[in-house]
Amino acid sequence: MCGVLGISCSNCHRGKQQVFPKLMTCGNDISHRGEQAWGIVTSDGENMVCHRQEGRFGEGITERKAEQLSRKMQGHVGLAHTLYSTIGKSGQKKQPRSIQPAVAEFHGKPFALDYNGNVYDLSRLRKKAMAAGWRFKSKFSDTEVIVALIATSKQTDIIEVLKEVLPQLKGAFALVILYENKIIGARDSCSIRPLCVGYNDNDFVLSSESCAFYPLGAKFIREVRPGEIIVIGEKGIEKYIKWTDKTCCRFCIFELIYFARPDSRLCGGRTAYYYRNKAGLIMAKESPVDADLIISVPGGGDLFADAYASELGIPLRQGLFKNRLGIRTFMTPRGTDRKALQRIKLHPLEEVIWGKRICLVEDSLVRLKVLPETVLMCYEAGAREVHVRVFSAPICYPCYYGVDMATKAELAAANFSTEQIREQAGADSLAYLSLAGMIRATGLPSEMLCLACFNGDYPVEPPTE
Ligand code: SF4
Repeated sequence: MCGVLGISCSNCHRGKQQVFPKLMTCGNDISHRGEQAWGIVTSDGENMVCHRQEGRFGEGITERKAEQLSRKMQGHVGLAHTLYSTIGKSGQKKQPRSIQPAVAEFHGKPFALDYNGNVYDLSRLRKKAMAAGWRFKSKFSDTEVIVALIATSKQTDIIEVLKEVLPQLKGAFALVILYENKIIGARDSCSIRPLCVGYNDNDFVLSSESCAFYPLGAKFIREVRPGEIIVIGEKGIEKYIKWTDKTCCRFCIFELIYFARPDSRLCGGRTAYYYRNKAGLIMAKESPVDADLIISVPGGGDLFADAYASELGIPLRQGLFKNRLGIRTFMTPRGTDRKALQRIKLHPLEEVIWGKRICLVEDSLVRLKVLPETVLMCYEAGAREVHVRVFSAPICYPCYYGVDMATKAELAAANFSTEQIREQAGADSLAYLSLAGMIRATGLPSEMLCLACFNGDYPVEPPTE
């Protein structure tokens, strides 16, 4: 899961409007989607300049550095990307080449590509690109396969290339491509990964999330439709094209549960806030708790806890203090000591917790690596009882569409009953939101959602390789 962003300062004279400060401002608003690395690329229609580095978006960019970059990164169109890698070895240092936007040439002209998702069964496509002369730098990168297929295509029109390449990709993806004066957005045939378009009087924006429109005062126009390509040129949206007729709507429900910022519109125009508030109310009916305090595990749990606590009439308190380092444990590379990280990330507040029966609120429970530690920390801080409520259903199946839940072996609910999980967590009670409750909280019919990690119903055939 990554963040993609493309901005075109459309109604302006070339060279007068700089896209760089806009990318730096709006890119920050997709930084929660990937904190391992980031990059931006700008173009004046002919020359392309790229800056990529490790860390959270904008990290280490002093005022002086920003001025230098601003002088270097001229142009009125550009992309930004925030990386959350689902491939590579534990804690592996990101190679500059795996950081996006990826840049290559198409018939002698540069193009840049932002990608979010996961495409698989790539052996045949890799061979095809190699036969056409591409020399792969990475063994595993699906991004490079997409770049290679575009760069080696015999077609001379970039849209025709996409119409040729995209149907060959199996999986889920959202792409933003910068080529000449255009930014081009494309979405997978089931609209699993998010992509939407926004506009103000001057700029067109393509983004994983609409929260990135806000700093520019851009309005949410709509989501890019399943199997659609949107082309934005200097005068605004030039065309909408279908790259396939075989489409369906299966939004990733995990965007609403965890990834997306609450103020973002996605999944049929819903805000993530809408889901989290509704889920809190539904949980209060399904699994109330007899406790003195509701305490959100900071980050994903806050809005659920708010709705749950007010519906039950139990005080909501900040009993866990989050370190400003702001490490998201679910999104740290595989193999990192998540228990130790949890102690760095969260500190319990004894003044709040001591002698109380508390209920911890979690958005989801994937690996059971950090919950036992969190419960233990609460007991150590003097909690009399610790209950846990999880505001999504048990995750029993891997995700093949770009979320880091690749094998059944790592999923707590795929291997243990709720009672066993409660016991391992050391909690006094533990309840999940039901699958039906979760669907109801979206306000959408289940046919419009990807629920595969909850029920095993995969909208796109799983990988065979
Ligand atoms: Fe989202 Fe789960 Fe579907 Fe993956 S399997 S896309 S995490 S709903």
